[in-house]
Amino acid sequence: MSSELEHLLGKEAGKTIDLEALEQAMRSRALDVAARVLERHLNQGGEEGFPVLPCSCGKEARPAGTRSKDFLSVLGPLRLERRYYLCPSCKTGVFPKDRTLGVDGASVTPGVLRMVGIVGAELSFEKGGAFLRDLAGLSVSPKQVERVAEALGAEMAEDERTVFDPDPVADLPSTLYLGLDGTGIPMRPEEVADRPGKQPDGSSRTREVKLCVLWSAETTDEEGIPVRDEGSATYSAAIESAASTDTEGESSEFAKRVLRETSCRQFDQVTRQVAVADGAPWIWNMMNEHFPKAIQILDLFHAKEHLGTVGKALFGPESDRIRPWVKERHAELDDGKIDAIITELRIYAPRCEEARKCIGYLETNRSRMRYPEFRAQGLCVSSGMVEAGCKVTVGARLKQSGMHWSLTGSNAIIALRCAKLSGRFEGFFERRAARKCG
Ligand SMILES: [Zn+2]
Repeated sequence: MSSELEHLLGKEAGKTIDLEALEQAMRSRALDVAARVLERHLNQGGEEGFPVLPCSCGKEARPAGTRSKDFLSVLGPLRLERRYYLCPSCKTGVFPKDRTLGVDGASVTPGVLRMVGIVGAELSFEKGGAFLRDLAGLSVSPKQVERVAEALGAEMAEDERTVFDPDPVADLPSTLYLGLDGTGIPMRPEEVADRPGKQPDGSSRTREVKLCVLWSAETTDEEGIPVRDEGSATYSAAIESAASTDTEGESSEFAKRVLRETSCRQFDQVTRQVAVADGAPWIWNMMNEHFPKAIQILDLFHAKEHLGTVGKALFGPESDRIRPWVKERHAELDDGKIDAIITELRIYAPRCEEARKCIGYLETNRSRMRYPEFRAQGLCVSSGMVEAGCKVTVGARLKQSGMHWSLTGSNAIIALRCAKLSGRFEGFFERRAARKCG
């Protein structure tokens, strides 16, 4: 055995008892051997040649020799030889072999693409690069992680838009919840230069990501209160408009996203549809238009948060009076006593704008706050799922300190992360591989 080891690692290797040094050296050597074997396999034998190839411009590309290129694979770098075709008309070059292998226009193989997708969905590009180096022994710069992850995310966004692939459902739950919300993410200055915002000078630093989350809550806790079913949540989100584009009734980009996502989850097939959101008018307009049968619930979590903000406005942010006041209002909210809250707010309304606004909010959403009635129907009212959805899909990855996004970059990473969190990575890569081979 030791002679085999020495054969692979050299004379001195057999004498060391440092296991980590040995295992790392063995892995590195094994990967290198495998990389050379795979490289030879991919380069040997004649790649089929063509006299001409159709070019995307409509003309024909002609043979122009072979070119070699390094691709980063899970085994390390591979140098591949590929036939090259050039279109004399539009000067576009084509590598048929790259298309067959699924590396067209890429610097990494499909195996590394998936690894970068996994770390890019979870971590900053710097950390992602470090993880790939430390765990997989791959040398990838943060910039390369960014480029590859964003290209993959853009491909996933396109796939989500164009391929209808309903989630496999064993047992469709009787009740499905649809939550919509928005959350701001920090943008690069040039991305928001012309947009009005909430900064003191009227400028903007953020753009709103709009999120759609679906989940079921057939499980109950020990008190019999419905709780979200483990693994039932799927997400779809993007920075895009929720306003209809024209007078001919075409749905907004975000409305189309919501319709795709609800189709995927067979929302129209369930006995009971429930729409959960905060008070934003655009959300309820969309719910009314597209899901008129859905029971509308104002997310209790949001409503409580709202009353907390009002408490601070009434008594000042440090006051001892906030906590007991808010606690009483929360209890009234739980009991569906909206009028009691309004009566209380009227005391402060003449001198506090927040109180006046809150009265309007309660009046507008009164029918969506019948919490005792909803609970009696076995509905989940206080999951905080919508809020959590924003945090888990967007906040945790895109709102870390020091991050500033471009529109295309953020939308790509959001698509990547939504696919990952919704359990849709596998389906995407299967379709991708089938397309390349087909
Ligand atoms: Zn051409």
